[in-house]
Amino acid sequence: MSSHFAIAIDGPAASGKSTLAKELAKKLGLVMVNSGAMYRAVTWKLLEDGVDLTNEDAIETALRAMDVSCGVDGLLSTVSIDGIDPGEALRSEEVNGKVSVVAAVAAVRDRLVGLQRNYLLSSDVVMEGRDIGTVVFPETPYKIYVDADESVRAQRRVAVGEVDSVADRDRDDSRRKTAPLKVADGAAILDTSNHTIESGLEAAIEILRSQGLQISGV
Ligand code: C5P
Repeated sequence: MSSHFAIAIDGPAASGKSTLAKELAKKLGLVMVNSGAMYRAVTWKLLEDGVDLTNEDAIETALRAMDVSCGVDGLLSTVSIDGIDPGEALRSEEVNGKVSVVAAVAAVRDRLVGLQRNYLLSSDVVMEGRDIGTVVFPETPYKIYVDADESVRAQRRVAVGEVDSVADRDRDDSRRKTAPLKVADGAAILDTSNHTIESGLEAAIEILRSQGLQISGV
């Protein structure tokens, strides 16, 4: 059994969960794991290699041949495929448009969930995604479901210059059979629509305290 703990942050696209997870990591000295980057990296590689994404068998075969490697740089998780960090390409329009299709494939999820759980062998983590509180670390008591109005979320994507149909991704992520996006048992809901980064962080710290996390000096 690992002696490390996980804070699970789930929620729809552009809800503010990455920002919150990064702020929590800094404040509490935890490793921040961006699980979406792993699904994005696999999608990027499949697109690079021209794999037919309508064919699950083709995805599984390509996945078996991939070396997916996850690490940490400072307090942030890293991911590379066959030794290459895709960098900015992770957030391209093409990847945004296809990542939910790839993330719905059970074999992809099995592989990446294993890599996500491995982080707990060496660090306390705050991990953000769609199924962290439901599937990856269902036993953790520290769970927050981050949400925001759809119009606020769409504006946030435009503000960072991204073409991303968040409503389509959310629909696909919520309706898929394996590990759909939903509020985990025991999760507290935090709506960031009217929060600043600072006030959202304060609200999250209050939630985590109420869930029993010992936080000193904050
Ligand atoms: O968090 P981010 O928006 O970067 O995630 C990109 C996509 O990766 C999501 O829309 C979803 O399809 C998939 N994902 C997932 N499970 C996670 C994290 C991300 O299915 N834990």
